Order: sequence, then structure tokens, then C-alpha cells
Amino acid sequence: MAVTNAIQSENKPTHPGYFRIVRQGTPEQYCSKLIAERDFPKGSVVAELKGLTPGPKRYSSVQISKTEHIELNSDLVFMNHSCDPSTHMDTDTMAVCALKELKAGDELTFFYPSTEWDMAQPFDCWCGASQCVKRVTGAKHLPTETLSKFILVNHIKELIAERDQA
Ligand SMILES: [Zn+2]
Repeated sequence: MAVTNAIQSENKPTHPGYFRIVRQGTPEQYCSKLIAERDFPKGSVVAELKGLTPGPKRYSSVQISKTEHIELNSDLVFMNHSCDPSTHMDTDTMAVCALKELKAGDELTFFYPSTEWDMAQPFDCWCGASQCVKRVTGAKHLPTETLSKFILVNHIKELIAERDQA
């Protein structure tokens, strides 16, 4: 018998054949993840951002402009942060894009400060990437030089420019 078995999603997958949630641990441990179910060429669209609803900034929201936040309302909400992300949450084109050649079974991640200026629920990152920012609090709290190593959406670039002019 396997020592551990990932618990399957109890809910219907929102993107069957594209990616799925792997639930691990208790919900409080935030260690569920999103896994590709097929290969995605680098640069390709993993998912279009559809069915979004506006709402307040919270742990599960994504920032889509300088002032607006949305809920993803799909399995994409389980996408973890990484400082060496496999995808880009592109709120300019409203699509999640592959930043690398992705194989079925690869984890889908994105760099949260690429969309988030000042996060509702900061956390420590242990991703192990050489460019790991260690504390994930939003782009507002990272030096411009650090942010220059990452792909960012337009509203974050604009907010950085405004910050640096101040
Ligand atoms: Zn990291």
C-alpha cells in the first residue's frame, strides 16, 4: 500500500483534461496544488480567465488592475506561488500562459507578486529557487531590481513606476 494517497477533489474539475487539483494535508495547511493533465508548449495558453467575479482583496483573490480584485471561481484558485513559476497569470490578456515547456504531471504555479501589489495574507516562501524572494507580501514590498527578474502584469509595472517616482 502506498504510504500516502492524494485525496481527489470532491468537486467537479473545472478544466478536465487540462489540469486538476491534488489535495494534500488538511485545508489549513494550504498544501493542495494544481497539476497539469497534459503537455503545454512554452508560451501557450493553459487557461483563459473566464467566469471571474469582482470582490474584495482576500487570500484567494487576484488583482486585475491598480484597484480591482477578482475571484477566479475555478480550480485555478489552487495554483501555488513559486519564485520560479511555471505559468504567468496574465491579467492583461486574461489568460494563464505556460512560461516553460510543461509536461503532464508538472505543477502549475505563478509568481504572486506579478499580479499582487500588497497581499491580504503574506507568507514565507520555501520554493528553493535561486531568485526566491523568501517573504511573499506583494510587489509593493520588493525592490525594483528584484522585480525586474520576473514577468509582471501592466498594473504592477505602473505601480512600481509610481513608487519609484515618489
Ligand atoms: Zn520562493
